[in-house]
Amino acid sequence: MKQSKLFGKTTKEIPKDEVSKNAELLIRSGFVDKLMAGVYTYLPLGLRVLKKIQAIVREEMETLGGQEIYMPALTPKDNWVKTSRWDEIDVLFKLQGTGDKEYALGSTHEEIVTPLVKKFVNSYKDLPVAVYQIQDKFRDEARAKSGLLRGREFSMKDLYSFHRNEEDLADFYEKSKQAYLNVFKRCGLDAHIVEASGGVFSKFSHEFQVFTESGEDKIYVCNSCGRHQNEEIVENQTLKCPYCGNDRIIEKSIEVGNIFELKTKFTTAFDFTYTDEAGKEQPVQMGCYGIGPSRVMGSVVEVHHDDKGMIWPESMAPYQVHLVALGDDEKVLAQAESLYQELIKSGVETLFDDREVQAGQKLNDADLIGLPIRLIISSKTLDKNFVEMKKRNSSEVELIKIAKVSKLFTK
Ligand code: ATP
Ligand code: MG
Repeated sequence: MKQSKLFGKTTKEIPKDEVSKNAELLIRSGFVDKLMAGVYTYLPLGLRVLKKIQAIVREEMETLGGQEIYMPALTPKDNWVKTSRWDEIDVLFKLQGTGDKEYALGSTHEEIVTPLVKKFVNSYKDLPVAVYQIQDKFRDEARAKSGLLRGREFSMKDLYSFHRNEEDLADFYEKSKQAYLNVFKRCGLDAHIVEASGGVFSKFSHEFQVFTESGEDKIYVCNSCGRHQNEEIVENQTLKCPYCGNDRIIEKSIEVGNIFELKTKFTTAFDFTYTDEAGKEQPVQMGCYGIGPSRVMGSVVEVHHDDKGMIWPESMAPYQVHLVALGDDEKVLAQAESLYQELIKSGVETLFDDREVQAGQKLNDADLIGLPIRLIISSKTLDKNFVEMKKRNSSEVELIKIAKVSKLFTK
């Protein structure tokens, strides 16, 4: 991509009401644009990041055995009344249509997926089954001041699994933990499994938490036995670990994922049963599993940045290489153009800064945008047929022969 043609520009301006680092950097770098509190447009660079996260999530959910579907965001009131959540969910966006019909914009999809799966599952032979979607969710969050961490419209991957009995549910639930850890590791996040409130049916649910100062959650962390708990759910708020008796510390943290054994909470509400081998009707056991790809994107910025800008892990960077031509020497520009053509021909995702702006601005913008590798072509090194290569996360500069550059990136 040629930066002179890229839709979206870097800017020094950020909306005055943005206090979070992720929003500041993502807006300044031209990755997202703010429409209103908690609602953002993804510009080309930001959308490439979001799609990469969603692709990683998709791969791990397929490996876990999930099948992708796509449910409507516009949902009928009746389904929510059946589970009492029309009144219980305080962040539910409610709409009125023609003929006084009422709707909700999906904040989560148990009310839609349960009657959907019921239509296709009758016998024990149809179970287990797991379906998921990646879709925008809507929540009327009271405080939407954390950029992509807390949106009013945000990307969520929600998977729902259905089982013959509690053991089968528990088995899938354990496997989902590993899939979740894989997702976060691949996204460059060090996520910890934390015990959280389990609701009426289960002792605990489990959250995947990234410890960082900018997080809104507080976690009791036990570094001795490794069992951590969300402060919200702990009855006796004490720094003594209830499992091993050692001292705990409190860490601020971002919840990037949450898994829940719902058991029969929703299947009972929708009268969803199956027939077992003996011909007897049995309740279906259910679990739900959520990840917020847009919150993951915000979290990565919170964790991976310095005072110059963002530092993208390779797996999520919108482009791998930032090719920067410095100066207006025609030889430099011609060489940069031909290296750019060679890189894209070799399949290397490259952003080429071909803009007619000062060298200082190009270098600052490259730091702000934060692609993993920066290649600089200038008259200084070109005479010797070299380019300067620098990784965003290191200060070392290497000189590379131009003829060898594209080979470096092709695996
Ligand atoms: P929180 O406690 O932070 O409000 P939650 O527990 O209500 O989140 P879940 O219903 O468990 O969230 O949603 C599953 C996942 O969706 C969360 O783990 C998070 O990654 C993401 N998520 C939830 N709410 C938001 C939001 N407002 N903006 C962005 N991502 C969100
Ligand atoms: Mg949660």
